[in-house]
Amino acid sequence: MNIKKKIQTSLLNWFDHNKRKLPWRENYQAYHVWISEIMLQQTQMDRVVDYYERWMKRFPDIQSIASAEEEEILHLWEGLGYYTRARNIYKSAKILSTNFGKIPADYNKLLQLPGIGKYTAGAIMSIAFNKNFAIIDANVERVFSRLFNIDAPVKDTQTRQFITQKAEAFLPDGNARMFNQALMEFGALVCSPVRPSCHRCPVNDECISRALDIVDERPVPGKSTEIIHIKMSSGVLRHKGKVFIQKRPENGVWANLWEFPGGRIEKGETPKQALVREFKEETEFDIELVEKIKIIKHSYTRYRVVLHCFLCSLISCREIPVLHEAQRYEWVVPAALNEFAFPSPHRQLIRFLFKNDLFS
Ligand code: SF4
Repeated sequence: MNIKKKIQTSLLNWFDHNKRKLPWRENYQAYHVWISEIMLQQTQMDRVVDYYERWMKRFPDIQSIASAEEEEILHLWEGLGYYTRARNIYKSAKILSTNFGKIPADYNKLLQLPGIGKYTAGAIMSIAFNKNFAIIDANVERVFSRLFNIDAPVKDTQTRQFITQKAEAFLPDGNARMFNQALMEFGALVCSPVRPSCHRCPVNDECISRALDIVDERPVPGKSTEIIHIKMSSGVLRHKGKVFIQKRPENGVWANLWEFPGGRIEKGETPKQALVREFKEETEFDIELVEKIKIIKHSYTRYRVVLHCFLCSLISCREIPVLHEAQRYEWVVPAALNEFAFPSPHRQLIRFLFKNDLFS
């Protein structure tokens, strides 16, 4: 048996016996594959399963998404982060229900849908329709970089081309669905980023990095991403038993989600000063800070946010804001906060307020 055939067979056998039982692997319906692939972008498999199951209960098909309100979609997505994914599913569902009625088995048509790039289109084509498309995620990059001892960062153009060629060459004709999943699952469970299980690896005889004893040096690290630290303030404004919330603009960070007003702490400002200024700029409310209640740390992409949270009250009795950074506002009773979609740190804040009885 040549090396290619040996690796294909070993990985497929390994997958057959070791694959995780996942709800979207039950019947490979295109709709299920599409939703799972979008959820899995930037999110760990373990976290996705619950969201996926809740999603399928509420939205069992494309039509049910297309006829829902975006607000409900965002609410269901709350906590998964990267909300553009949910908005794009919504936009795509509307296009699909009008034009096709189903997910098309056509790579180029898939690419025209919002939120579907080459990777996701390839994943749908191979996993849902079992077409010969190689897909390359971080797991596949790592496996190939170790198997073939690639002496350059995997994101370099030439390395990417090399890995793509290898992935295409290794794809067994007519079995892309299983082989792509086998490669990715093997990378996640055996050839893992830290301490790969080389002793129980089904292709360890073929692995050049292992033979050279340099597994720890592969993949070669690329340029590290610059981490940006941001300090912000946010305020829960209470008035006559209600809480002020506003809906963010249609574009930009956390688009269309609800929030408590606030923003970045500028140089030379204290968190309190920043919050008073932000309230004024965003709503024209004059507020006073009653109490600092919590600091929430939150990470997204390369940003590390420290959010200083306060309880506040109105200084004047004017209850109607002049909105400058939001499309809508509401004064709501605390119990109603669960009906709105909030970004994760604000939802954490809400939970904290309930837990510590701070709404009364
Ligand atoms: Fe990965 Fe180790 Fe197997 Fe090589 S031997 S492919 S490094 S798990």
